[in-house]
Amino acid sequence: LPKAIETDYPDTIDRYRWFGKFFLDGQICLKLEKFKPVLLCSSNSMVKSWANLMKRTEMLLNALVDLTREFIFRNSKKTYSGIPIIASNMDTVGTFEMACQLAKLKIFTTIHKHYTVEQWKTFATTNPEVLQNVAVSCGMTEADFKKLREIIAEIPKIEYICVDVANGYSEHFVEFVRLVRKEFPDKTIFAGNVVTCEMVEELLLSGADIVKVGIGPGSVCTTRMKTGVGYPQLSCVLECSDAAHGLGGHIVSDGGCTNSGDVAKAFGAGADFVMLGGMLAGHDESGTGEIIERNGRKYKLFYGMSSKTAMDKHSGGVAEYRASEGKTVEVPYRGNVSSTAQDILGGVRSCCTYVGASKLKELSRRTTFIRVSQQLNEVFT
Ligand code: 5GP
Repeated sequence: LPKAIETDYPDTIDRYRWFGKFFLDGQICLKLEKFKPVLLCSSNSMVKSWANLMKRTEMLLNALVDLTREFIFRNSKKTYSGIPIIASNMDTVGTFEMACQLAKLKIFTTIHKHYTVEQWKTFATTNPEVLQNVAVSCGMTEADFKKLREIIAEIPKIEYICVDVANGYSEHFVEFVRLVRKEFPDKTIFAGNVVTCEMVEELLLSGADIVKVGIGPGSVCTTRMKTGVGYPQLSCVLECSDAAHGLGGHIVSDGGCTNSGDVAKAFGAGADFVMLGGMLAGHDESGTGEIIERNGRKYKLFYGMSSKTAMDKHSGGVAEYRASEGKTVEVPYRGNVSSTAQDILGGVRSCCTYVGASKLKELSRRTTFIRVSQQLNEVFT
């Protein structure tokens, strides 16, 4: 330790040791600036994000961070431009009303599969500008496929199809994705859900453009408890994004985000898109009818697509959707979804600022994950 630091700035010594403990690699040096140590350098591995963090935050402003991304999809060859956050195709989230609000912010919506062809036609006629930011969803039954054909025949401007099933690992599902690709060669196809590299690759090679990854992380999902099946979502995104990008494909991290910090982590881990259910529930646009009032507080119903509530509502039509039941919960009513969405974007922008990414595209390259046993100071909770 330089003599001057030891004698003149004793308070700094601890910090020096603290940095030293984690990152000391012979390249770190301290510059004393008003008694605060500042990490000055290192082009080296772990130190990088800290160095970036401390240098770049002076230059970057949240408002200037660009969250839009542009993609060219592997199989459809179509281009995308927008903020790659997606409202889930749950009937409490992926509604036409949600799509109209979110499209104003360039956010995408996978519309749930329970709208009729007539409802789709009305939506498309009244909101033609929103169509580029929505996907039509379908399962893999005959009836689903027939309806998908009808909807696209009526509204050829729909560019995205989301094929969503309980078990993305069945051979039948892979066949189905091939069938959809053959029938709609120029549409961009989401397919899922899976959680492992080989299956991501198989789906991309079978015609999917964007693979939906995540089994069991959802806020109203009970799969892990009921069946013991699942995969840690962060590992899933780290591994699957790598596999997909190797083939020129893309992934959506689906489920498990509880706040904007989680969304930022999913992007940081390599997700091209992040899909949200619970975070967008409880709003005016969230469907499921009435606001529930109890003890002066307002709530809205939110449920998994294979919960009893969903099955009752769609008369058994969703029984095959997920391998297990989902939960039904009441979430606090939060008014218009725009302010929630803005808040999420604000959090992700701020994350980019912290790590020195001027664009969302740079975030994964600027991310270093550190395993922690506790994330928050819970002294006042
Ligand atoms: P969230 O953002 O609420 O954590 O997760 C949303 C995701 O949970 C959805 O996009 C979907 O993949 C998944 N999901 C929705 N409903 C159910 C359900 O009933 N069971 C299971 N296992 N997953 C569900």
